[in-house]
Amino acid sequence: MLSRINIIKNSMIFKAFNILVKNSLTFKRTYDFLKESQYWSADQLEEYQLQQLNKLVIHAYQNVPYYERVFNEIGLKPKDIQDLKDLEQLPFLTRDIVRENLKDLCSRSHSRNQFQHVTTGGSSGVPLELYLESGVTDAKEWAFMKTQWDRVGFRFRDKCAIFRGYKVPVSNNTFWKSHLFGRWLLFSSYDINNKNISTYIKKLKAYNPKYIQAYPSTISLLANHINENNIRDIPDVKAILCGSENIFPNQRKLIEQTFNTKVYSWYGLTEKVVLAGECEVSNHYHIFPEYGVTELVDKTGITIKTGSGEIVGTGFNNYAMPLIRYKTGDIGVLVETKCKCGREYPLLERIEGRSQDMVVTKNNSKITLTALIFGQHFNAFSNIKEFQIIQEKKGELILKIVKSKKYTSVDEKEILNTIRDVSNNQLDLIFNYTDLIPKTERGKHKFLIQKINF
Ligand SMILES: [Zn+2]
Repeated sequence: MLSRINIIKNSMIFKAFNILVKNSLTFKRTYDFLKESQYWSADQLEEYQLQQLNKLVIHAYQNVPYYERVFNEIGLKPKDIQDLKDLEQLPFLTRDIVRENLKDLCSRSHSRNQFQHVTTGGSSGVPLELYLESGVTDAKEWAFMKTQWDRVGFRFRDKCAIFRGYKVPVSNNTFWKSHLFGRWLLFSSYDINNKNISTYIKKLKAYNPKYIQAYPSTISLLANHINENNIRDIPDVKAILCGSENIFPNQRKLIEQTFNTKVYSWYGLTEKVVLAGECEVSNHYHIFPEYGVTELVDKTGITIKTGSGEIVGTGFNNYAMPLIRYKTGDIGVLVETKCKCGREYPLLERIEGRSQDMVVTKNNSKITLTALIFGQHFNAFSNIKEFQIIQEKKGELILKIVKSKKYTSVDEKEILNTIRDVSNNQLDLIFNYTDLIPKTERGKHKFLIQKINF
């Protein structure tokens, strides 16, 4: 019944256009609602969340075989969910459970054409299949996205250069194509290399966009090249919108300094269970309570109020395949403070990196990439264009590095010593210098290719 494959191929523009035309009412209602709700009090937001959660849980119990079974197994009824904390009585939903129960997680009350098939990548390279509520989930998503982008003034009609996962037919030294009547210029993020990067930058300058949307890794490449070659007259962009990958502090600094503008970053998932973004005055990720219930849990699965934990989400915007207490595999750091912008949203100080972004030492310790690499101060970073870590056996990392002209053996020594130091001599390094680091299927950069299962 659900074999209809309708993968909207990673085309944000196609989606945006289609949604704005066909589902403008859902989009507009959500957008108008968020304009007000973002300044609600914490109590108002909690009341709204509980109301939405009750609605979702009743729907899941009545129409989704998987949840009917889970509720019955633990002897729980939807009416037992009296406050947000009661949600903790339900078990977590993992990627494996989703994979094994795909059919049973689909709502019986939805007709075939209400399912939109999507896939999401993963560290294992095995994609996860999911269904969203066709015409609804995406329309609401765009209303939330627009609400976030309003914070830096971005409008859909603004002239925008895009460096995300688009496949652009490349010919005659042309690595881009025009879209939305010339308002957006899509650059291929799969084809950038040493030989053609200056062509990209020349085109960017000639296009002179008001905004740039980019994967942090891709725009960092350009920023590095601009700095290294002392290129001037860079377009005066109002903001650089970065999503889909973690943005690390050194990348943010590099991008903001090079383009002399603000990076606006957000965190979201294809699974649509959590959405959080920066605001006008802070780099903290503001979690949208209107989007779902977001929990952070420690290693034992206990919900925590502050500090570092795995992000677990229950999304309100997908009734075709509700995801309740879905373990994202991402680590966030929750802070108790409220932001000066006036929104009472919970704040993530940072996303610490995907939990799969961990390396295993000789003595089986797991170290996040953030702690190992990005939390350290490396002078060598300014002499490296790109890098990637590959782990094939524990206690050993293969470090692929694309050097800049200034890179010397001093840099290699610094990396070696720092990593030995941080890992207490539990990690050996193999340096592998290369000209190019291939992108993933979706054109993203992967900092770590982890081949060990743990
Ligand atoms: Zn704020």
